[in-house]
Amino acid sequence: MIDKVALLGKTKKLPKSGSLKPHPALLRAPLSQGGAIRYFCTGCGSCYELTAEGASELLSSSSFAHKYVLCDGCIMCGDKFENPHLVAVP
Ligand SMILES: [Zn+2]
Repeated sequence: MIDKVALLGKTKKLPKSGSLKPHPALLRAPLSQGGAIRYFCTGCGSCYELTAEGASELLSSSSFAHKYVLCDGCIMCGDKFENPHLVAVP
């Protein structure tokens, strides 16, 4: 059996500095990747869209209008979302 990591390599995680803040214009921009809500990671500054299913799993909520997910760590800088919570878009 071929080792997936040996074949494809391993992606490097982003550095996690912490205390980063999202730019309001970034949060107000229309979603463009087919997601239901955007997330921002204060750890690495990643800002991507989540599907409704993924966001519901993280938050046990399905009301995402005019909100975004703020978290202290994400899959880009760690292994999982840390402290995800809904915040109103400014
Ligand atoms: Zn992150």
